[in-house]
Amino acid sequence: MNILLVHPTPPRGYWPRGVFLPLCVPTEMAHAAALLRQQGHQVLVEQRDIRLLQCEFDWDTADARFMTLLQEHDPAMVVFFTPTATAEETFRLAGMIRTRSADATTILACGPHPTALPEQTLGECPNLTAVLVGEWEWTLLEAAHQGRTKGIAGLRTPSCTNAEWLPRPVCTDLDKLPPPAWDLFAMEPITRRQRWLIRWLPLRTLNLRTSRGCPNACSYCAAPLTAGTGVRLHSVDYVMAMLERGLNSYPLDAVLFEDETFAADEGRLLQICDAMRKRGWSERLRWACCLRTDQARPALLREMKAAGCRQIEYGFETASDRLLKQIGKNTTCEQNLAAARYTREAGMRIFANIMFGLPGETADDMDNSLGFIRAIRPEVLSATAMIPLPGTELYRNLSPELKSRLAWGDLHYFGDALEGFNPTAMSDALWNRKFRQVQKYFVKPLLWHQLLRDAGDESSADVQFWKKNWRRFQRRHPFKALRLPT
Ligand code: SF4
Repeated sequence: MNILLVHPTPPRGYWPRGVFLPLCVPTEMAHAAALLRQQGHQVLVEQRDIRLLQCEFDWDTADARFMTLLQEHDPAMVVFFTPTATAEETFRLAGMIRTRSADATTILACGPHPTALPEQTLGECPNLTAVLVGEWEWTLLEAAHQGRTKGIAGLRTPSCTNAEWLPRPVCTDLDKLPPPAWDLFAMEPITRRQRWLIRWLPLRTLNLRTSRGCPNACSYCAAPLTAGTGVRLHSVDYVMAMLERGLNSYPLDAVLFEDETFAADEGRLLQICDAMRKRGWSERLRWACCLRTDQARPALLREMKAAGCRQIEYGFETASDRLLKQIGKNTTCEQNLAAARYTREAGMRIFANIMFGLPGETADDMDNSLGFIRAIRPEVLSATAMIPLPGTELYRNLSPELKSRLAWGDLHYFGDALEGFNPTAMSDALWNRKFRQVQKYFVKPLLWHQLLRDAGDESSADVQFWKKNWRRFQRRHPFKALRLPT
């Protein structure tokens, strides 16, 4: 069967935002493409972010090229990978396909959004034939083999009743998946020097996933939706083979391990470090990953550093134990501070995630989080407003009225605080004012400073722009600039 896999962006007007394009390999899609091809299907991929980049963000031209692609390849099945922020764009593109081919094409959506809201997704987009719920590669393979969408576990059609619905359990042996079919993707824009993957280091980086899932279940996190609860791991041999192929295929100097939590199995992580050192990759490659703060032990961090790790991302979220408990993070401020200290002592960079707008948060809590950032002095700071992603506890607790007002395109972590959504203990006016001030006087200027520091003596237009902004901030707000953890 001719199958087209589409990786959409958020809608026009929402994307791209700011100066960064988060270009990376959509890993699940790359595995799905490999699996389908291995089983005899013809697979084509449309990366809308890269398509738009190539069209200089002329959306009409990108749409015209998408239609040409459909005309030339006439896929029998089109599958959209749909995180919530891309739902509206999935629906729009599905409409374009339907206009062209009436009912001849099977159009499917998979990923976090259709998994969280299968019936609503089908209701909002009648052009979809069905949605894939949960982990989707094997469901898609079965649908492609059978040439149908009814009666397949994990696949929900509009007419499927709750009694007929068959869930599909996640695959317990991840190594059964063939390695990602990178050759089907436009890899040059991803693996060229960019600052996004290992922020803010201008490196030629490939993103890899070596596990799925997380041992925790935070109230705001959509990761367990498709990955299920618990953690499943690729074997060390599989990871090394994948990495070796990446190194042989692309001129890389860095790898981002994009696992939710890379140290879910400390023994396996130590084996990965050991294997990288034995192959000499620890000198050739820099790498980064994400850990939970309760996994950061000095001995482990030293091993990671020796194996080439340069940056660790932590979801610190807040400097309040009360709020950490409230969001189900299962970590403490003491663990957070210790993780930052150990990372620093091991000689690695810190990528700090902080979230504002937590349920019950006060203005003092926000100030304490800024104090925490000052104390740990991260090289990278991501400080955003919490958003209620479908499928999370946070979303389930929203009023029906607010749910009905949400625009899917707004539900991403690149923008402002979500209008009308204020779970904090502050009044709307105070919350909005405080969040805007934090962004204006702390987060943005700190970002310019961090980017400049990592840019070294580079003199590109981007660097000039950051320099201009940073200097202007220092001139206009000298005391605030002095209080930043630069
Ligand atoms: S620890 Fe991280 S990945 Fe795991 S549920 Fe919480 S936010 Fe999600």
